[in-house]
Amino acid sequence: MLVVLGTPHRLRELGKQSPDGRLRECVYGRQVAAGVAAKLQGMGYRVMTDYEPMDLPREMQTPNARLERQRELALRVNFVNELCRQNGKDRVIYVSFHVNAAGADGQWHDARGWCVYTSPGRTKADDLATCLWNAADRNLPHDHKSALRADWSDGDPDYEAKLYVLTKTQFPAVLTESLFQDNRADVDYLLSEEGRHAIVRLHVEGIIKYIESASLGDFPWRLRIY
Ligand SMILES: [Zn+2]
Repeated sequence: MLVVLGTPHRLRELGKQSPDGRLRECVYGRQVAAGVAAKLQGMGYRVMTDYEPMDLPREMQTPNARLERQRELALRVNFVNELCRQNGKDRVIYVSFHVNAAGADGQWHDARGWCVYTSPGRTKADDLATCLWNAADRNLPHDHKSALRADWSDGDPDYEAKLYVLTKTQFPAVLTESLFQDNRADVDYLLSEEGRHAIVRLHVEGIIKYIESASLGDFPWRLRIY
C-alpha cells in the first residue's frame, strides 16, 4: 500500500491562519505531513507527499487567486491519480491534513474540535475515516476529545463534502480538519509539543489500522454502537 499525504493550501493564499498569526495552516499541515511521513517510513511503509513546496512554481503563480487555487488542486490531483495508475487504485490511500476555521474574519471564535471528511456515498474512504476518527478519540486529551466532531446521520462519524481532492481521486481519500485555527485553546494545543505529537500520532495510528484491516478484509468497528 502506498500512503499519499496531502499538504494544505499555499503561503500566497490569504487567511488560513490564526488571528494572531502564530499558526499558518499551510505551514502547520506540512509539518504534520512531514511528521507522519517520518514515522510511517521508519516503520517500513511507502509514503509520498502530494505537494511539499510552500507555493506554486513561479511560472504558475498569478494575481488571480481563484485561478491559482485551481492550478494548485489540479497539480495535486494529477499527481495522485498518476500514482494510482502506476500502483492500482486498491493500493493507494490519500490523507490530506488541514486545520479548520469557524470564520474568515481574522477574529477568534468558539468552535473547536477535530473532524474528518470523505466524499459523498459509501466507499472505502469511510473505513479510512473511521480508523482516523477512532485514533483521534484515543489520542486527543479530554477537553479536545469532548469537542470531537462527528456526523452520525449515515451511521459513521465522517462528514461528507464534495471537496475537489476527495471527488477527483479514484482511491480512498479523506481530509482531516485537526482542530480550529481561530480558537485560542485549539491553537495553543496545536502548537504545544504535546499537541504536535498527538496530531501526528493519531494520523499514524489511524492509517496503520486501516492498512492492517484492509489487508485482512476486516473492519470490526462496524459492529460498534456509538
Ligand atoms: Zn484547509
